[in-house]
Amino acid sequence: MARVPPGIHTIRGIMGVCHLLVDAQGDAVLIDTGLVGEPWQIRWRLHRLGLGPHAIKAILLTHGHLDHAGNLAWAKTWSGAPIYAHPLEQAHIDGTYSYVGVNRWCGRLENAGRILLRVGARAEIDIPFADGDELPFWGGLRVIHLPGHTLGHCGFYSARHDLLFSGDLFASYFFNVHLPPAILNSAPELIPASLEKARALDPRFMVPQHYDVLDGTLHRRRFDRLLNRLT
Ligand SMILES: [Zn+2]
Ligand SMILES: [Zn+2]
Repeated sequence: MARVPPGIHTIRGIMGVCHLLVDAQGDAVLIDTGLVGEPWQIRWRLHRLGLGPHAIKAILLTHGHLDHAGNLAWAKTWSGAPIYAHPLEQAHIDGTYSYVGVNRWCGRLENAGRILLRVGARAEIDIPFADGDELPFWGGLRVIHLPGHTLGHCGFYSARHDLLFSGDLFASYFFNVHLPPAILNSAPELIPASLEKARALDPRFMVPQHYDVLDGTLHRRRFDRLLNRLT
């Protein structure tokens, strides 16, 4: 049985992964843009598929943390594609979000990353989206607002493939299936409802943005185990 539907390419960086989705017509979309190491892989993948930068029709952002949006400005300039994201993520992209409490550590880490890694240049969201919006990419992707990690954190649901790209709702590794660490969550009180929302959607496949292997049924099983552990 297929581990994921065809057309999903994992682009693995030093912190997590981003995804290149390619449909049968050769149209591509990026979900997140990564931190360090992703740009050359994105170029190489497209090249292997016989595609150029303009095959990318859109850049979809799950949220604006630096490990997801670090190469956003590069991706937009290189591909010419518009950026789609929840409007509350613009402050994260800009590095101006007012972190409070323990979450301030997240801002400190991002500030250090911007300086040391020379990523995170400003990039405007071109097309703000909201929960339930249907995006015309990869056979249709529905915006699923899953706030808590950040206020504008979103997943993308493909009804055609019954697959949820779940962003940073949880991380899925063999020895460690977990919610994001407390220092990375801006509104932890919203996380339980977002977990429930994903459970109610009941997708056959789940694909987060931090994982070991690309296996949508495995990540779905691990998500269920995580929820059982939490409740
Ligand atoms: Zn994050
Ligand atoms: Zn992340």
